[in-house]
Order: sequence, then C-alpha cells, then structure tokens
Amino acid sequence: MSDTKNFKSSTRLVHAGRRSSEYHGVVNPPVLHASTILFENLEALDKASPFPHGNSFYGRHGTPTRYLLEEAIAELEGGHATLCLSSGVAAITNAILAFVKPGDHVLITDSTYFPTRNLANTFLKKFGVDVDYYDPTLGANIAPLIRDNTTVIWCESPGSLTFEMQDIPAIAKAAHAKNAKVLLDNTWASPTLCRPFDMGVDVSVQAGTKYIVGHSDVMMGTITTASEEDFITCQKQVILSGDSIGPDDCYLAQRGLRTLNVRMRQHHESGLAIAKWLQTRPEVSRVLHPGLPDDPGHAIWKRDFIGASGLFSFILHPVDRPQLAHMLDHMDLFGMGFSWGGFESLLLPSDPKKIRTATSWDDPGQLVRIHVGLEDTDDLIADLAAGFERLKTA
Ligand SMILES: *Cc1c(COP(=O)(O)O)cnc(C)c1O
Repeated sequence: MSDTKNFKSSTRLVHAGRRSSEYHGVVNPPVLHASTILFENLEALDKASPFPHGNSFYGRHGTPTRYLLEEAIAELEGGHATLCLSSGVAAITNAILAFVKPGDHVLITDSTYFPTRNLANTFLKKFGVDVDYYDPTLGANIAPLIRDNTTVIWCESPGSLTFEMQDIPAIAKAAHAKNAKVLLDNTWASPTLCRPFDMGVDVSVQAGTKYIVGHSDVMMGTITTASEEDFITCQKQVILSGDSIGPDDCYLAQRGLRTLNVRMRQHHESGLAIAKWLQTRPEVSRVLHPGLPDDPGHAIWKRDFIGASGLFSFILHPVDRPQLAHMLDHMDLFGMGFSWGGFESLLLPSDPKKIRTATSWDDPGQLVRIHVGLEDTDDLIADLAAGFERLKTA
C-alpha cells in the first residue's frame, strides 16, 4: 500500500512507508547500506542530483531505508515531507539555521530544552543572530516582541522540565502576520498526540530518539515541514551540515514506529494514574502535568492534543542533597539518566532556576522529572512510595 491517507491514524501507523510490493513482499523495508551509489552510465551521472530528496545519489543523503521512514513520519505528522537526522539536537540546529542569517532575530520560549538555548546563546549569537527569550504562556501577547527582522519563533509545548502549555495557534497567527516562521519542538507529543500543521506550525522537530524509536537504543532527529518550499530550505541546510543517519538506525526507528500508538496509549494512562497518585502524597507540593484538570495548561492541552505522553514533573517539598540521594539511589524500577521515551521508567532531578531568563522559577522545592514507562503502575507506585519513605530516614 503506498497511499494510506484515507485511513485512521492507527491504521496509517501500521501501513505508512512500507511499500512491501516493491521489496519482494517483505513486511519491513530492507536495510540498504551505501556510501557509493553507482550510476548506469555517464548520462545518468550528469543528471544526478540530491534534489528532490529521495533521489538515489550518495549514501550521506540516505537510501530507501531512510526515505521510507521519512515518508511514514511525514504522513503521521501531517506534513509535506520529513528529513531524518543523527540526533534530536542535530534536527533542532539544522531547522533553526535553515531560517536565519546574520542580522536576524529569533524568539525562543523560556521553557525550551536546554541544548536549544545553548545553541542560541553560543552559535547563533556568534553568527550575529539576535536572541530573545519569551514567557511560554504569552500566547497572542507575543505580538509586541516580534520585530521586523524576527525570522523564527521557537516553541516547545509542553515545555521541557516545567510543562507549560503554549497557545500555538495564537502564536502562529501573530508570527505569520510578521512573516516569521513557527518552529516547534514536538518531541513530547510524538507524531501521534497533536497535529502541529493544523495549529499553524511551519516546521515540526522531533527527537526521534524518544518515542519514535521507543526502545532507548537509537539516536535520531526529524524535521518535518508544512510546505515544499520550507522543506527544500531545510534540505539544503542539512546537506551543508553533512549530517547523516545510518540505515540500521532507520530500520530500528521504523520498527519502533509501528507500535507507537499502543505505547502512547499506555504512557498516557499510566502517566496520568501516577500523576494523580503523586497529587495525593504529602511529600509532593505540585505535579506539573497538562493532563491534570487543575493544571494551568489543561484547557489548551484538551483543545490541541488527543492524549498525554508519559513525561512530566513533580515538585518535592524542599529536601537536601543527601535526602534526595537516599530516595533516588535505591529505586528498584526507576532508572536515573538523560533521555526518555523508551519502555522503561526514569526519574531525573533538575533545577529550572538556573536556566530561566525571561521568566523566573522561584519554587523552593526540588523538581523531579519522571518518565512513566510500560511497567505495571502498582509496581511503579510501590517503588515511588518506598522512595518517599526513604526521604524521612536520610
Ligand atoms: C531529548 C530531547 C531533544 C534532543 O534529542 P537527542 O536525540 O537527545 O539529541 C530535543 N528536544 C526535546 C524536548 C528532548 O527531550
């Protein structure tokens, strides 16, 4: 099946980007390794080009293993086309660089993933791009911050660590009135929980490393655009950067993708169950999860998303470092480490205070980011409850 657009999303997830009939009936696309790709004759060589993306040209630009994955992701996100890159950060860097030149101005949400801020504060500033951070909850009130030379408005909804929801349609309206592009880090939602292009987003970036791959064993980033023109702009930038991703990683990602819907459904259900349980605990002062009815971002989440992922944060009443270590060092099920989106549960203490500039984070408690994996929620709750008991005995 090559055109799955008329089917519902879970059907498309199973069938998009497979083209089994072109590959001997094999269910999963073959893993085609290449550096050199041979041309039949001089005429074919003379005509060869990496444009349009997907042409057989040179291994750095990909082989059909990658192109089929890109086709599936573009279809699921509802965009024109997708580029797969070697990491989420590579996708962020290339997506932003595609739309800026010296003298331009970019607006970045204060709640953004830290490496995005790092890129803006070092690389972009070095190349003469002006950067301002904005309050993630501004919505339409972002308009006065948009200058004549603003070319990119960077969004992330919900935000990294602190999970503020952004009114993306309102931001997109204000941005487009001044010809600025709206770029969204859409990793939290994966390609299934929201429709970025229906909200007015121009470019959606995913850390495929997270839910697309889903098994904590591959690094990958994706750039998906609404328009063909923006896609070519991004493709040219990616070619300049020399970024590339191998076919084995694309194979694992497309294998992960097929179960994305069922995994996301479980992350949603288990995540909300644990968020609600955390709200009942005396050790916890606040739970930051837009799926909770009393969360400040709940109305936007309900309007724009069809579900929640398994990633959110909770805030412990102030604890000292030895107390926190006593809790986190002895968890049976929750691991401690960067990244998320795999099948396993994780806890990561963080401090947003140190990062913010446009807004302040003055909660005195200890923020802990949690990824709720696919384990049984009773077992996860027992692990957390035992951890909270250890806070008292440290
Ligand atoms: C992890 C993450 C990234 C970066 O992805 P990598 O593949 O680790 O480079 C980007 N954005 C968000 C929101 C993330 O959580």
